[in-house]
Amino acid sequence: MSGTDPAATDGPRPGVPQAGVKGVGEDPREQDRDVAEAPGKIWFRDLDEAVIEADRCIQCASCVAACPSDSIGIDEDEGRPTLVKMCTGCSRCWDFCPRSGLRYERHLELTQAERGLAEPVTYAARATDEAADAGQDGGVVTALLTELIEAGEIDGAIVAREREDEPLRGEAVLATSREELLAAVGSVYNQTMGLGQVDELLADADLGDDPDLALVGTPCMIQGATALDRYDHEPADPIALTVALMCTRSFEHSRLVSRLETFDVDPDAVDTLDISDGQLRATDAGGETLLETDVDAFDAAGLRGCDECADFVGGAADISVGNVGSPDGETTVVVRTETGESAWETAAPDLEAAAIDRPGTLEKLADWNRRRAESILPREYDPEAGIGISYEHHRESYDGTDREPEPLNPARVHQYEEWC
Ligand SMILES: Cc1cc2nc3c(=O)[nH]c(=O)nc-3n(C[C@H](O)[C@H](O)[C@H](O)COP(=O)(O)OP(=O)(O)OC[C@H]3O[C@@H](n4cnc5c(N)ncnc54)[C@H](O)[C@@H]3O)c2cc1C
Ligand code: SF4
Ligand code: SF4
Repeated sequence: MSGTDPAATDGPRPGVPQAGVKGVGEDPREQDRDVAEAPGKIWFRDLDEAVIEADRCIQCASCVAACPSDSIGIDEDEGRPTLVKMCTGCSRCWDFCPRSGLRYERHLELTQAERGLAEPVTYAARATDEAADAGQDGGVVTALLTELIEAGEIDGAIVAREREDEPLRGEAVLATSREELLAAVGSVYNQTMGLGQVDELLADADLGDDPDLALVGTPCMIQGATALDRYDHEPADPIALTVALMCTRSFEHSRLVSRLETFDVDPDAVDTLDISDGQLRATDAGGETLLETDVDAFDAAGLRGCDECADFVGGAADISVGNVGSPDGETTVVVRTETGESAWETAAPDLEAAAIDRPGTLEKLADWNRRRAESILPREYDPEAGIGISYEHHRESYDGTDREPEPLNPARVHQYEEWC
């Protein structure tokens, strides 16, 4: 992907200290530390309190990817970002986080204006190879990526595969062949933080100095990847194509598994989990239904930060895919950029596709999703406002609400005393 920089005309720019951020004398921690904080510093600790401890983190891994000193890692057990070494207070994690410093709705607006086709095209599609039956819906993502790799258009794709040691828990993997893509087919309903693992995944692969990758993920992860790309940050360099999985909610793995158990469903017995038409279905390897219930029954297992998300369709991606608006066994595909169009044309021989003229059901769900976010976001939802949200502005909007920053987890305080 290539980036342009609208910062000059669009207010504060992520990655650059913003006007009105915390300054000397404004931070209560100065008293603890007995030192004045340099103007403009926002530490990972601030992000942790405002987003992670406040149970608003959507595990998109933008902060992990944005940190220039690799100070933010991923807590394997909890599946959340965590400090692993000294934080320099550079503010980048704050600036690129769609739950704090990044006004994601503005980023979507700008990305579409810069990269979007005049008329995005929507299809109902199905693979014509083995991905069709194996896929979550029409197997289109798997067929598309396979074709792109085999045509030499990309070197690999960051996708998700169920972990061998834990049922229904996904992990990010870099697939470089048809076999590896087929092994990662289907949806996993938890975040895998693949954006934060690009370097590690590449280090284990042999793809040369300048590989081109596809990144598949939930819309919030694609927001982070494309925001990093717009401001020319290195982690986005290898990402040549973004594919968003349409999404109204992802889940906290442990809560999802516990909830299934309350319905007497053994998570080990679940082969496929599917959420469509407002229903959650769990089936075993023989195709027998283990559970079918209203997805609202799983509300408490969802990531609470998803309620603040208005990006059901993945508006920053080159291509978005879902099931809404297509017949069973087909994937709804929205091609929205020239990069997406070119990838779609390459994959066309492996797909059966028909354009959908008026994707009404899709628009209805996207509209519901936006209204939900607008009603829950403590800050204003404003696609025309500046792209950066300062620490102060965040605190003014969130303090006193049920989403206000929470004090650090005592178990982690020692890390911050040492590193932050
Ligand atoms: C959390 C979540 C919520 C979703 N909610 C909706 C919804 O409300 N409405 C809707 O229409 N569609 C939703 N989808 C998308 C839908 O489930 C299918 O992924 C989509 O229709 C593509 O189907 P396919 O058969 O073409 O994909 P496949 O060919 O099966 O390929 C799917 C690809 O996505 C990758 N993948 C799966 N899960 C993840 C993940 N968590 N992170 C990164 N990569 C992943 C797989 O490894 C695979 O490469 C959701 C997906 C997820 C992961
Ligand atoms: S929402 Fe994303 S960027 Fe923000 S703290 Fe969580 S993982 Fe990091
Ligand atoms: S609903 Fe939004 S915030 Fe939650 S996982 Fe999906 S894209 Fe991310």
